[in-house]
Amino acid sequence: MAGKEAMSRVVMKHGAALLLAGAMLTSTVFAEAIGKVPAQADSAALVEHAAEPSSEKAADTNWQLLLVNPWNALPEEFTVELASLKNGMRVDARIYEELNDMLSDCLAEGLHPIVCSAYRTQATQSRLYNNKVARLWAVGYKKEEAQTEAGRWVAVPGTSEHQTGLALDIVASSYQILDEKQEQTAEQQWLMENSWRYGFILRYPSDKGKITGIGYEPWHYRYVGKEAAAAMHESGQCLEEYLQTPIQEGEGAPTEERTESNVALPETMPS
Ligand SMILES: [Zn+2]
Repeated sequence: MAGKEAMSRVVMKHGAALLLAGAMLTSTVFAEAIGKVPAQADSAALVEHAAEPSSEKAADTNWQLLLVNPWNALPEEFTVELASLKNGMRVDARIYEELNDMLSDCLAEGLHPIVCSAYRTQATQSRLYNNKVARLWAVGYKKEEAQTEAGRWVAVPGTSEHQTGLALDIVASSYQILDEKQEQTAEQQWLMENSWRYGFILRYPSDKGKITGIGYEPWHYRYVGKEAAAAMHESGQCLEEYLQTPIQEGEGAPTEERTESNVALPETMPS
């Protein structure tokens, strides 16, 4: 996509996003007053196959709460319109503005956050997964064992939240390793305290691994919208709890907590 074209598309999406944000803030009054919010049609068109709305209010924000985890794969027909960040990483165009606001405010505090992974295609996720399988194979694992073990470290293609365009890994420029020490950086401290104000949550907290199926990742943020992020910040719930998803145990569940993106940084770069 050409740069100028991308920007104009992004700007158009900003307009829609702002309209939508305004509509959400005053959803009840606005919806009652005019019957239907014009931005809804635009918003719905961006994701052609959003989950079935459970209510009229939910129809506006279903895309923000898309659940992708080890037990809930991305719908096969999933599509998303992307916007590019300055470093070439891509995200769902509808979250671009709030992400930009968050990173700008973080920068304004004298901090240096770096988005090191964002949207991944199925092909990219498959490459990450297959590379992991191959490395395990090389050190003596049998094929099936290698696949099982690889799935503990890299999300099986189709089950990575990065494929939604709503998730991103952010690290401190001074410490770019994806491990638990990341939480000690000033950038993570700021993001953990403030990301909800922009509609983002730390998706895999240290104490929710059995529910999310993924171990602690003090770098992986997920856009859920300002309303849901504020509610989760207030209650301490993770996304599965907020959505009241039954806790999955036994078959299909990883035997241990795992990290879905704790691989060498160059490999996390989307193609
Ligand atoms: Zn991640």
